[in-house]
Parts: sequence; structure tokens; C-alpha cells
Amino acid sequence: MPPLPPAAAERLDAFLGEMERLSETFIGYPCSQDYDYPEITPFLRFALNNVGDPFADSIYRENTFAFEREVVAFFQKHLRASEDDTWGYITAGGTEGNLYGLYLARERFPDGVVYYSEHTHYSAAKIVRVLGARSIMIRGSDNGEMDYNDLYETLRLYRDVPPIILANIGTTMHGAVDSIPRIREILKDLAITRSYLHADAALSGMLLPWVEDPQPFGFDAGLDSIAVSGHKFIGSPMPCGIALARRTHVDRVARSVEYVGCMDTTIAGSRNALSPLVLWSAIQRRGEDGLRRRVADAIAMADYAIAQFARYGIAAWRHKNSVTVVFPRPTDGVIARWQIAPSRDIAHIITMPHVTRDMVDRLVADTAESLGLTKQS
Ligand SMILES: *Cc1c(COP(=O)(O)O)cnc(C)c1O
Repeated sequence: MPPLPPAAAERLDAFLGEMERLSETFIGYPCSQDYDYPEITPFLRFALNNVGDPFADSIYRENTFAFEREVVAFFQKHLRASEDDTWGYITAGGTEGNLYGLYLARERFPDGVVYYSEHTHYSAAKIVRVLGARSIMIRGSDNGEMDYNDLYETLRLYRDVPPIILANIGTTMHGAVDSIPRIREILKDLAITRSYLHADAALSGMLLPWVEDPQPFGFDAGLDSIAVSGHKFIGSPMPCGIALARRTHVDRVARSVEYVGCMDTTIAGSRNALSPLVLWSAIQRRGEDGLRRRVADAIAMADYAIAQFARYGIAAWRHKNSVTVVFPRPTDGVIARWQIAPSRDIAHIITMPHVTRDMVDRLVADTAESLGLTKQS
């Protein structure tokens, strides 16, 4: 290829400088930024493409299926899914994983109604529209969990329709985990035997496997499918994620597509083949002990942030096993400077592994100053 014209190279240089500057205040979104993957660079020369089912043969051989299968096996192990009974693939992110889970659910129960709490990620509402599924939004508690009484009362009214429940394993705003056992208890109390349970575990699906006392989050808790992001806690320069589902549900859609002549089990046709290499490499390099330490360090940093806010009398808090620190909504200036996502009267920072004490200190001081608060201790 011809080289970049000088003016274009200059633009890229300036862009790099801008990204370096922005990265110093990257504390408001759940994406790790403490990686490099130089081992991936040589593969940028190939037309790699993971089109199709990573567990099936393909005529297109420039793929990374072998690596993708190992990443899927890693998630099966840590999301407590049996390799025999579940199937999975690497998606373009959390949204595609949610779409996949709800697609399988809708194929299982074409007349099913999707239930999700008001604290659910905005992708859920879009997905039910794409699928043309009926849905009912369940009230949320102030702490970010689903209002289980509202779920009970709503399900009670529609007992004749199979429920498809999207549970949050870590809500976007509060890092709250919906109780899978309570949801299942409600189904049991109402004698609802036909149901589907999908978990949106975008961030916490990579935290809970590594803590001492996790909230129920895996297939052993009774899930039918789960979506986890790859670019959030693990960290990846391209968005990616993992979708896992019970094989019986996947076989249902695989069969229906086989009818038109191909074993096409994924949502997208052509799929990113570099993201499996990134995830595989991260898993190899960090290892299980490294990931466990990584999660413990991030939780400790969240506690550090809460303590720093407290020194100014700012009430910040987090859920058990969460790195999402919720605090009162700061001024618009702070929101803009620190790329912080607000929601009504609250905001959050997320202490991903690249977040340092210095970043926390500066954010807290900036927030306090904008509110006219001084240190109390
Ligand atoms: C980030 C996130 C998503 C969406 O993930 P994308 O990778 O942006 O598609 C879905 N649900 C939750 C809870 C999230 O935090």
C-alpha cells in the first residue's frame, strides 16, 4: 500500500495526542484501558473472518475458530456452564449477546412476553422492538435491583403467557445484581413452569467469577443464556463480548437455518476474528490468579474512592462485589471534564483496572470544589 500522505500522518499524530490526553480522565465508563496486545499486530495483514459457527467446519479457513473455542470454554468454566449442555460464540459486544439470548427465547416461546426492569441497559428496549416481541417493564428499586413485588404482581396477571425474563447481573448505572433465586422463587410460587431466563452480565459477568462470595450469576443458578462484554473488564481495543446459551435453545435455531442450507448459529455473518485473539491473549497473559487479583484490586480502588468522597461529606456507595461507585450528580463541568454518565440525580465512576488513586483524588477534589465543599477530615 502507498504510505500515508504527510498531512494525513499529521492528523493521526494529533489524534493520538488527543486520545492520550482524554485517557487521563477516563473514569466514567466500564472499559479497562490497561492493555497492549502487540502480539496481535502481525495478524492485521490477513483477511481474517470468523464467519459462521466456531464449532463447525468452514470453507473459509482464515479464521480464529480454534482460539474462539478456547475462549468460549474459558467462559463456560467460569460461568458454570457445562461444555456438553451449552454453546457460545464471541459477539460484537453486550448488545449482540442480549439480542442473541432474547432471540433464542422468542424462538422457544413465540408468544412469550419479555420482562425487564427499568434499570436495564437501553439495548433491551431496542431488542424487543427488533424482535417484535411483547414486553413489560418492571419497576426498579432505588438501589438498582428489580422490584420483585412488581414482578410478582405483573406475572400473576399474565400467568397464561410464558415469561422471558431479562435479569441484570450488574446494572449499567448502579452495578446492581437482580436476584436469580428470588426470580425463580416467584415463578415457582405462581406455578409457572414454562419460562426463559436471560442474564445481562455485561460487566459483572467478569467480576463475580473471581470474588469470594458472589451473588448467584451462572448457569448453575438456572440461566438459559447470558451475555458478557469482552471490552469491559478484560479490556479490548475493539468492542466484543461472549454469548452463551443452553444447547437445546441453540439447536432450535440452528435447525431452522439448516433448512435454508447452512449451519448458521450466530447473529452476524462475517464476524471479527481479531477479538477472539485479543481475549485469548488476555486470558493467557493474566491467568486465573491474575484475574482474581485484578478484580480484588478494582474493588479495593472502589472502596478507596468511597472513602475519599466521604472526606468531603459526599455520600458515595457501591453494591457488594461491584466496582461501580454511585455518588450525587456533580455539576455539568465535572461531567464533561471526566466523561461521566449521569442519570437523573446520580452519577457514577467505575474503578476499572487502569483507574489510579491519583485519578480518583483529582476527580473527588474537582467534584467537591464544584459543589463548594471542603475536606472535613
Ligand atoms: C455495556 C452494557 C451493555 C451493552 O454492551 P455493548 O457492548 O455496549 O453493546 C449491556 N448491558 C449492560 C448492563 C452494560 O453495562
